[in-house]
Amino acid sequence: MLRRTFAAVLTGAALSVSMLTAPSAGAAEIMATTLTYDDSQAAEFKDAVAAGVNVWNTNVTNVRIVKATPGQRVNIRVIADNGWPRATLGPVRPSGTVTVWMGRQAVQQGYYTPRIASHELGHSLGLPDVKPGPCSSLMSGSTGGVSCKSVNPNAQEKARVQQLYAGTAVPSADAGKVLAEVG
Ligand SMILES: [Zn+2]
Repeated sequence: MLRRTFAAVLTGAALSVSMLTAPSAGAAEIMATTLTYDDSQAAEFKDAVAAGVNVWNTNVTNVRIVKATPGQRVNIRVIADNGWPRATLGPVRPSGTVTVWMGRQAVQQGYYTPRIASHELGHSLGLPDVKPGPCSSLMSGSTGGVSCKSVNPNAQEKARVQQLYAGTAVPSADAGKVLAEVG
């Protein structure tokens, strides 16, 4: 609807700009929000965090997560510590900052670190916990089972993030709170 309004108002000059900037984007796609992350305090979890970032970048199109370059504003700060994993509930915007804690307590119990990272980043992107839930649900977190190695959001979880970054869904009332996983 919004795009049609723009198309009706703007002239051929706008069309050539959009062709230059988004040659592979489909006509209905919106411009993705780019968020930065910093893993300089992620210690032994850097690979797991990179895997979690990749999960989101391959599952949704309305938001992209890239590594912050020196001096750039960090939107998602990842910190390793000895507690339970936890994260600020988003959706974080390019003007904001949230934190993901990759807590070692869950790792010691045998939980799969890429799933932890993907789950906590799901919180950064505005998804609350859905517990208890099956392994096929990313936001079921620890209730998906200690042997669960599923790292991908399900269709509902993907759709919710797409909507939050398209501005077509209202964020949870808990946005901004820190959600802790418990053992
Ligand atoms: Zn959680």
